[in-house]
Amino acid sequence: MKETKIDWCDCTLNSVIGCKNGCEYCYARKINDRFHFVDNWNEPKFFEERLQQLKSKKPKSIFMNSMSDLMHWKDEWFEKTFNAILENKQHKYIFLTKSLSLHIPEKPNNVFLGCTIDTQARADKCWISIYDFLSIEPILEPIKLNPKKLYIITENGIENTCCKQIIIGAETGNRKDKVVPKKEWIDSIVKQCDEVNIKVFMKSSLKDIMGKDFRQDKLIWEV
Ligand code: SF4
Repeated sequence: MKETKIDWCDCTLNSVIGCKNGCEYCYARKINDRFHFVDNWNEPKFFEERLQQLKSKKPKSIFMNSMSDLMHWKDEWFEKTFNAILENKQHKYIFLTKSLSLHIPEKPNNVFLGCTIDTQARADKCWISIYDFLSIEPILEPIKLNPKKLYIITENGIENTCCKQIIIGAETGNRKDKVVPKKEWIDSIVKQCDEVNIKVFMKSSLKDIMGKDFRQDKLIWEV
């Protein structure tokens, strides 16, 4: 397990390294280029022995796939990783995917699954209500979330289904075409979240842009 600068978790543990998605802004690929965990970044590999580290007794919030995307995991990797999770219930486990409709059957309560969206096109196609949270990072353009996908209206009023939190972050690094988000893009997402009672967590990368409106609601895995 590695301590991390990511401000919504305590540490990362990557039982799988490598990703086929090919995002231009991928930071994980740069880390792999530097440390050579896998020879071919586009061919994810499983590192089962790393799961032993979950035995540490102190409860932590662990980002389980900062160096891969769940959508490329083999069934066997899922099974072994989730068996280790079931044996170590002291932690909170956070997963992210770029799949727009990934479902984990019988997901334990201490596992939180989020979907990453970065553009309006992806937001439109995402089956938001099946995820515990959304990660809009890096935000690449203004994004309008379809309210029908965020909540259901019951006889008693609005009821949020699954998505309880939205994390927002700016692109980091020094890519040539790096996108610097405008404050109004973030303000708009905050307004949309407040209307349906969804928590907002802005990453530190937005501190300067947001000024006094910088906001970090309590994370759903900290409650
Ligand atoms: S999904 Fe994540 S790990 Fe995969 S290429 Fe994109 S940024 Fe990198």
